[in-house]
Amino acid sequence: MSLLDQLGRPLRNLRVSVTDRCNFRCGYCMPLSTFPDESKFMAPSSLLSFDEIERLIRLFVDRLGARKIRITGGEPLVRPQLPRLIERLARIPGVDDLTLTTNGYLLADQARALADAGLTRLTISLDSLDADEFARMSGNTRKLERVLAGLDAAVAAGLTPLKLNCVVIRGQNEAAVVALARHFRNTPHVVRFIEYMDVGTQNAWNPREVVPATEILRNIAAHFPLVPLEPSYPGEVARRYRYADGAGELGIISSISDPFCGTCHRARLSADGRLLTCLFAADGLDLRAHLRAGARDDELARILEGTWRARRDRYSEERSSRAQPSGRRRLEMYQIGG
Ligand code: SAM
Ligand code: SF4
Ligand code: SF4
Repeated sequence: MSLLDQLGRPLRNLRVSVTDRCNFRCGYCMPLSTFPDESKFMAPSSLLSFDEIERLIRLFVDRLGARKIRITGGEPLVRPQLPRLIERLARIPGVDDLTLTTNGYLLADQARALADAGLTRLTISLDSLDADEFARMSGNTRKLERVLAGLDAAVAAGLTPLKLNCVVIRGQNEAAVVALARHFRNTPHVVRFIEYMDVGTQNAWNPREVVPATEILRNIAAHFPLVPLEPSYPGEVARRYRYADGAGELGIISSISDPFCGTCHRARLSADGRLLTCLFAADGLDLRAHLRAGARDDELARILEGTWRARRDRYSEERSSRAQPSGRRRLEMYQIGG
């Protein structure tokens, strides 16, 4: 019998941030104006070590039933020796899926080592195929070519089918939607279009900049007719569609217009060891303090189980009824990894 939270949801997916640092400055996550240098990031000693991460993940898998582990950040590939962590996690019995989300900039050098270490899948964020638009979205640096080289390296290393994440923002990259759909049709890769979310406090989120899923789908379907598909597993975040002509599949993540808290089976572990039971949490449980105070496995497991059992989060479903949706303290996306 699975451990269930207050709304009857089991824990299945654990997202683990391995760093809050990043080599991009996407305006919707870590804007250049707020993060001109490295001074605001966590000190290296604050980050969980690979030993600490592995120990916690083993407990999440053995005691809480986590089955999918996603490594994220910040930009996970800036964490030194990341393939060594992947190798350790790939050996944990009970992990069905070990994956990673990256901006792709360092992937050309690391794809092979990650695949050899046992990574099963990969998601690459790609907001535009236009070099200037991509540069504007990622913080005014010309990086598209390197990301596309990273994508090719991931394919060559066998990390396929890839998932490609595109955050759609009105007035910034709406034209990228059809361009990305066209580019990745007739490939095994799946582009997932994501509604711009009010995560964190730095992106000056404005609901008018959200392009709703229905509009994204309408724009694609005007060029390439779509057919809805069943979820591939319970609690899948993206709604799936296939091209009617058999040219592949795409996904839509409609966290704003059609929230999916009812089937949210995700927990998040921040790079400094806080356990968050919702993307919009104001704070998390400080597991690092327990680890470094010498807590035994059974004590840690009891704390994790108690936290999950008490969980009642459903922020996205409550968003529309809040008087001031962005007026509340919360953690940043680059701290908790999306
Ligand atoms: N740096 C890596 C990357 O960009 O792929 C991993 C971390 S990033 C925080 C994880 C995902 O969150 C990315 O696909 C990014 O596009 C998405 N993201 C960040 N801020 C977002 C926002 N405000 N709304 C929707 N998605 C967002
Ligand atoms: Fe970095 Fe990813 Fe945030 Fe962009 S979305 S700033 S790549 S952590
Ligand atoms: Fe899950 Fe929180 Fe997002 Fe709802 S708002 S889907 S509970 S992470």
